[in-house]
Amino acid sequence: DTSHGVILYLENVSVVFDGFRAINNLSLDIGVGELRCIIGPNGAGKTTMMDVITGKTRPTSGSAFFGQNLDLTKMSETQIANAGIGRKFQRPTVFEEHTVLENLELAMKADKRVWPILRARLNGEQADRIAEVLETVGLMQAYRRPAGLLSHGQKQWLEIGMLLMQEPKLLLLDEPVAGMTDAETERTGELFNTLKGKHSLMVVEHDMDFVAQIAQGGKVTVLCEGSVLAEGTMDEVQSDERVIEVYLGR
Ligand code: ADP
Repeated sequence: DTSHGVILYLENVSVVFDGFRAINNLSLDIGVGELRCIIGPNGAGKTTMMDVITGKTRPTSGSAFFGQNLDLTKMSETQIANAGIGRKFQRPTVFEEHTVLENLELAMKADKRVWPILRARLNGEQADRIAEVLETVGLMQAYRRPAGLLSHGQKQWLEIGMLLMQEPKLLLLDEPVAGMTDAETERTGELFNTLKGKHSLMVVEHDMDFVAQIAQGGKVTVLCEGSVLAEGTMDEVQSDERVIEVYLGR
């Protein structure tokens, strides 16, 4: 039952590839408005878990529910995206030859094919929405700049803005600060802290300083060998013997 403040609910999910258990009896739930950090060594199953949530990979067994009891294991990738799950892969994918503003317009729900005529038709509400997102992701001053001229960090923020235009209920982000400067990483942390509460977020990240910055008051889940090894506050998981062993033992 996902009706009690839980937006995502995985129970006993397994994914078997040619006899190999990439995900092994994984159970996890994410609360509405929660920011959950997911950490774990390479090969722990983080990507495969996100593939299950977005419908790219079908679980071999187990269940996955979203929102008001939507069964993700029976939905297509498009249906899942339309139901409000947005995903950001590690590398930025923006339309480099278009401006920041045009990228956000392109991302607006249901208007993807008509953007050249859209600009003239933007109603007040849509313009307000774009301005709000520009403000949120810190690109207001750069709205006329071609996306190709943005820094790596700015491109990542723009893509997050494009996802926000679609008003997702749950955002999945894969290593959002990889390749960012320290200053960009810090600003990204501030951005995520403002998204917290308004959106539900699942952030896979290897940068532990960044995780510490965004996990304040929230939970961190440690995946290992396809299962949850530990879950708790950053302090709790960092002092967990099993977690230390997994990170230091390799
Ligand atoms: P992570 O994202 O935590 O690094 P992955 O989910 O990418 O982990 O991978 C988990 C395990 O599953 C790895 O051992 C990987 O080699 C394996 N795996 C992932 N996808 C496939 C696939 N399509 N076929 C076979 N094995 C896979």
